[in-house]
Amino acid sequence: MKALFLDRDGIINVKADGDYIKVASEFVFIDEILNVLKHAKTMGYLLIMVSNQQGVGKGLMTLKQLEDVNNFMQGQLKSRLGFALDELYVSTDLEGSGSKRRKPAPGMLIEAIKNNTLTPSQCWFIGDNLSDALAGRAAGVQTILIGDFPPTAATIVVESVLKFRDIMHLVLI
Ligand SMILES: [Mg+2]
Repeated sequence: MKALFLDRDGIINVKADGDYIKVASEFVFIDEILNVLKHAKTMGYLLIMVSNQQGVGKGLMTLKQLEDVNNFMQGQLKSRLGFALDELYVSTDLEGSGSKRRKPAPGMLIEAIKNNTLTPSQCWFIGDNLSDALAGRAAGVQTILIGDFPPTAATIVVESVLKFRDIMHLVLI
């Protein structure tokens, strides 16, 4: 089995400027990711979200709020695409806590690989933070970084989800 791992904020939804997405009304899809999800699904990839949410660990939002936002995302995907993400992995651990799950640590990816008997080298992880690429590399999966990064920072570096959508047919095969 193979999977497309997805970071959430900045990949699936527009990032809240210096804040956390605390309620569903703040969750705005990056439209082009819907095309990516559809293509990946067609090509047989499991769709697995891997997200750091230390806002919960900091006490700025509750786990229930986080789950409500994620449930909203899943419901929207279901109604817009006819399917939702297969699995969601979230770390609410604080930065500097030594967490083995919080990215850049690869714990969440390793859990997902084990749970689904995935072949890491056939998996991709798309994120918008260097910590996503670091976690991906540590787990042995191929990496896509969205944003202004040196070309060596990931297997593929492109400036936007839109740009990735344009080349996804060559990558997610
Ligand atoms: Mg992100």
